[in-house]
Amino acid sequence: MTLRPCLGLPDQPCTMLARDASRCASCEALRQRQRGTVTQRFGTGWTEMSQRVIAEECGICWLCGSPGADTADHIIRRRDGGTSARDNLRAAHRACNSARG
Ligand SMILES: [Zn+2]
Ligand SMILES: [Zn+2]
Repeated sequence: MTLRPCLGLPDQPCTMLARDASRCASCEALRQRQRGTVTQRFGTGWTEMSQRVIAEECGICWLCGSPGADTADHIIRRRDGGTSARDNLRAAHRACNSARG
């Protein structure tokens, strides 16, 4: 059985000894968790698209005309065949969006 110093994490050196694996159990668990965070950050695509729509329209809600839009609304409802492409989206307040139904 060989014991080697744990490789640790880039931002967190470790003084534990790791058996067989290259990292001790706690570093390995931490590394897995950090990986998960990265995957979540590059997730859906919808968040990025709505952020882009809001930025390009200066946060002006297309339903009430006031600034402070915090989501993107479909011009043609999805149930009516509208897509989530940029040209079918307008910045809107979440409240205005749901009031529209
Ligand atoms: Zn460690
Ligand atoms: Zn509004």
